[in-house]
Amino acid sequence: MSHTSIDWERTAAEAAELLSAYIRINTTNPPGNETEGARFLHEVLKREGIASEIIESAPGRGSLVSGCTGGAVPEIMLLHHIDVVPAEAGRWQVEPHAGIVREGEIWGRGALDCKGLGIIELMAFLLLKRQGLDPGRRIVYAATADEEAGGAWGVPWLLEHHPEKFQTRHVINEGVGWGLRTGSRNVYLCQVAEKGSCWLNITFEGRPGHGSIPHAENCVLHMARAMQALGEYRFGLQCAAPVRMLLEALAHEQDYMSPERFLGILDPGRSRETLDAIGDGPMREMLAALLTNTMVPTVAKAGTKTNVIPSECVCEIDARILPGTTPEELKALIEQLLAKAGCRGFTVHLPGGSQASQSPMDTGLYRVLDDAIRGCDPRGMLLPYLSPGATDSRFFRERGIVAYGMQFDASIESNRLIHGHDERISLRHLLFGIRVLYDTLRRFAV
Ligand SMILES: [Zn+2]
Repeated sequence: MSHTSIDWERTAAEAAELLSAYIRINTTNPPGNETEGARFLHEVLKREGIASEIIESAPGRGSLVSGCTGGAVPEIMLLHHIDVVPAEAGRWQVEPHAGIVREGEIWGRGALDCKGLGIIELMAFLLLKRQGLDPGRRIVYAATADEEAGGAWGVPWLLEHHPEKFQTRHVINEGVGWGLRTGSRNVYLCQVAEKGSCWLNITFEGRPGHGSIPHAENCVLHMARAMQALGEYRFGLQCAAPVRMLLEALAHEQDYMSPERFLGILDPGRSRETLDAIGDGPMREMLAALLTNTMVPTVAKAGTKTNVIPSECVCEIDARILPGTTPEELKALIEQLLAKAGCRGFTVHLPGGSQASQSPMDTGLYRVLDDAIRGCDPRGMLLPYLSPGATDSRFFRERGIVAYGMQFDASIESNRLIHGHDERISLRHLLFGIRVLYDTLRRFAV
């Protein structure tokens, strides 16, 4: 049977129906309740005669794995996470867990992050089977728990307790939700690297007292000073290899300014002014986050009563580091900055923290993905990307497995819908993703 015998219109309708049903299974994490999502996928695979297994790391925290029945290490794993972040229902135009399909878009929490990808991967997997190929020979389909809350019950647990089921040479996983449409090209991004994440908390101890008597050892004042100093600190330019490659290619595709001027972003002396010239908007924000380490104060907890000076308070900082910086170096920098800002009584805690992770770009899979993108969109091109946020890909990269994050939507706007209100994916992008992935798998893994 040939590739052209696939009825893409029917495929799109089927994918929309599956995604809508998948969104209706509420897998908000916490608590996750991923087993129900895994059961749904298990039933779909079973109808097609494909076996799969549900593995629970804790009650209700199920992950699913299917395929890979041969003895050799599978070529590719199609990975997505089942859990989603909470939705503030009152701020949405539609009920976030109803899976509403309207005007060519499927709405709901998870549509982009990342049940949409899960259905794209599922459909590509099923199409191979329906074409008489045996996807289970070299491809694993995996849906895992607990990505959104750090992953403790998901990928790291599975890699530790069932390493034999999660062997693979390559992983295709979620990527960022942005690309770029210019006058001539549609740029899609392949997430080959991710910043490391360091979530720090800083406690401040001071002298308690009555709110009517001011004194200088009030820990709330020291915390405020610290948050301001850290929030306003500007890290130096630190250009990682995938970011350099992205910007050098993007220079010729973007419509903001001349390529030469755009490349000023890579020059420590001109970087900020060039970014400013792009103007306020998602492009400037995204590029700025790629070029330096960042730290953002996000949580402050202090005091219980207006007339009581507390003896202790705590703030939390979300810091993201590029290749070349370690979590320990960042912690030492923060201690220095706080001392310089005149803060007293503080202790910086770093409970964990991960380094940046990176996969090589010169792989057969990267080339096939690029080819498949160009084949499905004549204006399309694939560029490497380093994501400011972390995904489960890092756990595979730590084990030397090539992991790429993909999102098949070349529009920067969709990035703002991820974890935001009114998350939705267009049918067009859903189908585009299925076609690219189906093509990739046919060429690369069957
Ligand atoms: Zn995600």
